[in-house]
Amino acid sequence: MTNSIEMVDLRGQFKKIHTEIEEAIAKVLQSGRFIGGEEVANFEKEAAEYLGAKHAIGCASGTDALMIAMMALGIKSNDEVITTPFTFAATAETIAILDATPVYADINAHTYNIAFQKIESAITPKTRFMIPVHLFGQPAEMDEIMAIAKRHNLQVIEDAAQAFGAEYKGRKVCTIGDISCVSFYPSKNLGAYGDAGLIVTNNDELAANVRSICNHGQARAYYHDRLGVNSRLDAIQAAILRVKLRYLDKWNDARRRAAKIYDSHFTASAIIPPFSIGGIKHIYHQYSVQVPNRNAVAAYLKERSIPTMIYYPVPLHLQPAYNRHSGGNAGAFPVSEQVANDIISLPMHSELTDEQTSYIAEMVIQAYEHCGVQK
Ligand SMILES: *Cc1c(COP(=O)(O)O)cnc(C)c1O
Repeated sequence: MTNSIEMVDLRGQFKKIHTEIEEAIAKVLQSGRFIGGEEVANFEKEAAEYLGAKHAIGCASGTDALMIAMMALGIKSNDEVITTPFTFAATAETIAILDATPVYADINAHTYNIAFQKIESAITPKTRFMIPVHLFGQPAEMDEIMAIAKRHNLQVIEDAAQAFGAEYKGRKVCTIGDISCVSFYPSKNLGAYGDAGLIVTNNDELAANVRSICNHGQARAYYHDRLGVNSRLDAIQAAILRVKLRYLDKWNDARRRAAKIYDSHFTASAIIPPFSIGGIKHIYHQYSVQVPNRNAVAAYLKERSIPTMIYYPVPLHLQPAYNRHSGGNAGAFPVSEQVANDIISLPMHSELTDEQTSYIAEMVIQAYEHCGVQK
């Protein structure tokens, strides 16, 4: 093995594109325009074109994107928002910070995304929104989710923080719900070199609301029509993202290739590989498997310099910060709880070699055989 194995290899990726990145940054420094301006406008245009969406609006992070999307939709105190308990905390955090209530529906045991069959029983007269998360880069079952939204007059916010470039039945995610949110946190599939986010919509009025909210609620300078925040994409990050967007499909394909190699090793083993629904393009933000006694497996791998991560060890309904009115007791969402106990994410990034991927897979199987029966 020539290179060490990284969970995410940002340095290896940077080495291949550093000249373009350094030129792009230098151009911004020379322009003297650091907030807004040409780079941001061009990135927004290119991101919208890439997605096949009408509007893409940069903001400061994926977390802000979620918060601003809900503000633009007119969320009010005590509104209920249905989402998955098995996601990164920001999904529920932003609901709670707006004084609304996250209400959970358990996940599908195979996809780890929200189980659409469990959504309708969570709907009450207070329900206004749903936030499906395209977890680990796999689109949620959007046809069924949109049908439920239509039946109950709910609006849908796609949390595509982990899925920029993923496709559902021939459409890019971010173009199916009413509004969508992306994170460019450095380790995401399209990562900035700092915090950055994006809000996507085909609705002109919503887009205008979002633009205003991102910039202190102004429609024109110093006239504040509504409550807003300071959440803007800065020009250096936009310039970096413009360079990286050109490589994204290639990088996502490299992840898909690595996932295929992992899959091929795990089919005849006791390791449960990710399950992919039909008709989608999964972009493997994470490659997560289930294995009995995963903590022992993680320790065994660590001793052999193979990093792993647990996404996520505690479902949100069991987190004190986000369990208001949500049936926050153990056993409430058994599938999420079981998966949180057994899941482990393996190294996954655009720079993995086939040799590294095969080696990691074989070591996981060896770890399972060594540790699997111990508790
Ligand atoms: C990363 C992430 C976010 C938040 O994005 P930031 O850019 O880190 O604020 C939100 N939702 C999900 C599912 C994420 O993975």
